[in-house]
Amino acid sequence: MTRYARIDDYITQIKDILRGKSNQKAADLRKLIYKSRKILNRHSGKQYSVDQAVEKLLHPGWIKSVARFNPDEWQDIADRMYIRARKILGNVQKPEIILYPSFQRFNGRVYEVDRTPYIAASPDFPHTTGKNLQVLMAHEYAHFARWRKTGIPSENVPIYACIFEEGWATWMSIKLLPEYTLTHLFMSNLHKSIHMPDPKGGYLRWCKKHLKSIASEAAKSLNSKDHKALGRFFQCQRFGNDNTPIRTGYYLGYRMIDMLAGQMPARKLMLEKPTRRKVSGWLDQLLDQP
Ligand SMILES: [Zn+2]
Repeated sequence: MTRYARIDDYITQIKDILRGKSNQKAADLRKLIYKSRKILNRHSGKQYSVDQAVEKLLHPGWIKSVARFNPDEWQDIADRMYIRARKILGNVQKPEIILYPSFQRFNGRVYEVDRTPYIAASPDFPHTTGKNLQVLMAHEYAHFARWRKTGIPSENVPIYACIFEEGWATWMSIKLLPEYTLTHLFMSNLHKSIHMPDPKGGYLRWCKKHLKSIASEAAKSLNSKDHKALGRFFQCQRFGNDNTPIRTGYYLGYRMIDMLAGQMPARKLMLEKPTRRKVSGWLDQLLDQP
């Protein structure tokens, strides 16, 4: 089979060191992590020094967290996403992936190394195999394919940009994995396992019913970069007695992109530069739909 995705796999290298007989595992790990410290900083958000990372890798729990990691599975899934994406989006970049430990900070995202966006993923995060891995890869590849063409937005973007970006990635992941249910594609099957609100009837039903209120609430803070607003709509954060489901911004964005996809081809939509004005207009249009 032709290989398309390029994977920079640090996990296998670390596992090999940890499994070896060498009595200088710590020194070998230190060498590897020091050499890759640019990625460590990017991946951990500068949270860990080289020595702290080595210490975490030597903890017996770490190798257990990657017991089910299989680089061939990642390669197969990434190749499949690329083949499918090309059919929908035409000429897109082959996946370029960095696999690095995040010590359970995140499962996957796209970040820049030397001004180039890469798919960065953490096989030591729980649930990064099988179906969940397919969903993760489809979502991150959708971000990657777009940002390799448009450039990656800065780390700190307002709500309106998140609605577009996450809407695009979620919508595209549904196109890449049409055989999966929306519950899986929104990863809402995992909300309960991370102790987040799980409304009766499920996340999607709740969002569908409350689309108007999600949209009008988001419309009030389109320009906001406030961590509370972003945490409410896009991250797994709940404040005070808030019992509404998490990540409702993904659903809102998905609905907006789904509407736009009816008005222009996906390969054009992929290149769109969202502004507050445009997103505000699109949300009005979405709520005006019958
Ligand atoms: Zn995303």
